[in-house]
Amino acid sequence: SPLFPALAEASADPHGPGAHRPALRFGDRSLTYGELAGVAAPLAERLAGAGRIAVWATPTLETAVAVVAALLAGVPAVPLNPKSGESELGHIVSDSAPTLVLAGPGDQLPSALGGLGRADVDVRATRTSRVPEDPSPETPALIVYTSGTTGPPKGAVIPRRAIAATLDALADAWQWTGDDVLVHGLPLFHVHGLILGILGPLRRGGSVRHLGRFETAGVARELSEGATMLFGVPTMYHRIAEALPEDPALAKSLGRARLLVSGSAALPVHDHERIAAATGRRVIERYGMTETLMNTSVRADGEPRAGTVGVPLPGVELRLTEEDGVTAVEAYDGETVGEIQVRGPNLFTEYLNRPDATAAAFTEDGWFRTGDMAVRDPDGYVRIVGRKATDLIKSGGYKIGAGEIENALLEYPGVREAAVTGEPDADLGERIVAWIVPDTEPQTETGSAQSPPSAEELADHVARRLAPHKRPRVVRYLDALPRNDMGKIMKRALPHD
Ligand code: ATP
Ligand code: MG
Repeated sequence: SPLFPALAEASADPHGPGAHRPALRFGDRSLTYGELAGVAAPLAERLAGAGRIAVWATPTLETAVAVVAALLAGVPAVPLNPKSGESELGHIVSDSAPTLVLAGPGDQLPSALGGLGRADVDVRATRTSRVPEDPSPETPALIVYTSGTTGPPKGAVIPRRAIAATLDALADAWQWTGDDVLVHGLPLFHVHGLILGILGPLRRGGSVRHLGRFETAGVARELSEGATMLFGVPTMYHRIAEALPEDPALAKSLGRARLLVSGSAALPVHDHERIAAATGRRVIERYGMTETLMNTSVRADGEPRAGTVGVPLPGVELRLTEEDGVTAVEAYDGETVGEIQVRGPNLFTEYLNRPDATAAAFTEDGWFRTGDMAVRDPDGYVRIVGRKATDLIKSGGYKIGAGEIENALLEYPGVREAAVTGEPDADLGERIVAWIVPDTEPQTETGSAQSPPSAEELADHVARRLAPHKRPRVVRYLDALPRNDMGKIMKRALPHD
């Protein structure tokens, strides 16, 4: 069956009602399903047999059309981040060896792409042409590079089967239908923005309105003009939480949304609670990764709970394992930490050109080791503690997750951003270090700037809120945390870390 049934239908019956339904809108440019078939099918014909192709993934209609055309042609597409530096682009291009790069007509391409042939994407419908039959489900559809949060990005080979499986599992959990209209403000070169944000609505026969770049005014406008869902990363929800007290129209529009979903990194509890208080809506958190697409979420009729990512999606097997990576953790006690491993039709097939990394990522019986640590609540809700590599601090005989300390710090007045790491300590093994970005806005009634919270105040707050052994021993102040283009904190880029 086709990956995009509504597109196949519009192409088979270009004058039928389905062909006139909206599919994609970026700013003042949009395509119906009929028009999308009309531009993507001829491009797919041109791409047939092209080997791999790269897509210069600006947040535009051209990018969406290019990826849909590649999927129709059965040619693996490698989305490129236009903000990547020459060396990262050079790495990705030599690793994935595309034959061609698809770009928008006016795009200037950097010299790292100089050796590739170029084809411009034309989004003006020229002729109607039938979309081709779908290639087999195991055909590689996309090669998506991981975010590079913990090391150099790896190319995850994602088959069509995984895309269909993850989108259908989300449709089931979120009751996502062709009547849903998504507000989108994310880049298009990662799983979140591309697979969920573009391919998701197209698989359902619904539509997406992309803001170009995220801004709260655009969110409020689209939600008040009929959009039903918002997908975002925590930095967006943070900006929403900050804007809400002064923006009743934003609060009202969010209150009308059918679904507010956050993913790609942990949503701070403080932001979740502020949004709930101002709008009456709780953000649904989901957990996924490039290699596995989506693993967990809360159902549309379930109860989102701050600090949790819900339960495994339909079809996804999830287990926690002890340090040996094999023995399952049976406890549902909200306390026993284990590594998350997953299995299911949502998984990638391999890391491109990295048989070593691929082999190391799977257990003998096919579980994928996520590298994320979690506990499970008695009702099965998963709470992510953090990444094994950077977020689990072994201090004084305890294993302490950075995330709950970060959440506690973020509640404290005058703290704008917080990250917690461990560093070697002669006594404790590791000591807890808090990296704090203080609020720069005036905090007091008189408008005078408040001094940032002191190390003692912060340590006392964490000790009271959580436990004495979880208090930071060292507090360092920064102007900003190092973040990647998805807003994820890059702990490996912290100074002296
Ligand atoms: P790299 O693998 O290159 O170091 P990355 O892991 O950040 O980068 P992605 O695949 O984009 O690359 O991100 C997946 C990771 O993001 C997950 O393994 C998890 O650590 C984190 N993550 C995603 N969603 C959530 C969430 N809701 N809560 C907490 N962490 C999340
Ligand atoms: Mg990763």
